[in-house]
Amino acid sequence: MDALRLLKEEDHHALFKEARELARDRPTIAISGSFLDTSCSSSPYCRHCCWRARERVWPNFRRRVTKEEFVQRGVSARAEGIDWLYTPSGCIGPDLPEYFFEYLSALEQVSDIEVYGLFGAVGRRSLELLKQTGVEGYRCGIESPNRRVFKEVKPGDDYDARIQSIKDAKDTGLKVWSGFIIGLGESLEDIARGIEILKDLEVDSVLLHPFGPCPFTEMEAMNPPSPLLVAKATAVTRILMPHIDLIFFHNEVEWGLTAGCNAGMVGGNPRMISGLKEMREVMYSYQE
Ligand code: SF4
Repeated sequence: MDALRLLKEEDHHALFKEARELARDRPTIAISGSFLDTSCSSSPYCRHCCWRARERVWPNFRRRVTKEEFVQRGVSARAEGIDWLYTPSGCIGPDLPEYFFEYLSALEQVSDIEVYGLFGAVGRRSLELLKQTGVEGYRCGIESPNRRVFKEVKPGDDYDARIQSIKDAKDTGLKVWSGFIIGLGESLEDIARGIEILKDLEVDSVLLHPFGPCPFTEMEAMNPPSPLLVAKATAVTRILMPHIDLIFFHNEVEWGLTAGCNAGMVGGNPRMISGLKEMREVMYSYQE
């Protein structure tokens, strides 16, 4: 089945309906994040980096959290009903620092929350150590399936290193969560190719992330993409990859569930965490 042909489908409700049916029996998964280290070695910084805005607004944003803080956040998230916890840091380089494994190991010892590391492109040895630590998976996006766009937006990052990290993570037995950002200047053909790249990589879960302009960045004047386009791309992903966990972005619950997502970035929103399963039941009971 051709991703581009599906993306061009004019009857998007038919597309959504097919995607939803394929998602019907997938488990409901609530996801939140917990920072490990908000420094980043990427040079120059990515042109869309929202952390540039956060460091101007959030007190002490650029810092390493303590092990106690990290463990406490994971335990609290699990108690609130979070199933998966991803652990962002900025780009660290191929070798993760020792304290990452200490923090992750400490959380693994006291919680059954499923942890996904998120540290950019990292080396195989670090991925093997993450697996040994008990981490469930690794989150590594391809950011943009268009290499020119990738280099423009992320001049300090490396597309091929990200692809290699995805392959290495799979080889080490980690589950792989991937995806890309929509709205960075790519074409519809690029989006279709991106979905097919993810399919070929046999990733386990996907988040198609709408570009959101942040103040104090070089891309602050760009508009975000149409929610309908992101939802269509999400539905096409579900149709081409019916067995993955498909994740909606923050606050996109209606679009996401409509387009066949079974998992959501619900952050710390208690209503979303406790209500996600019921939201899916309401959606599937709705008479069209
Ligand atoms: S890798 Fe992430 S944290 Fe670092 S500059 Fe790019 S977007 Fe920002």
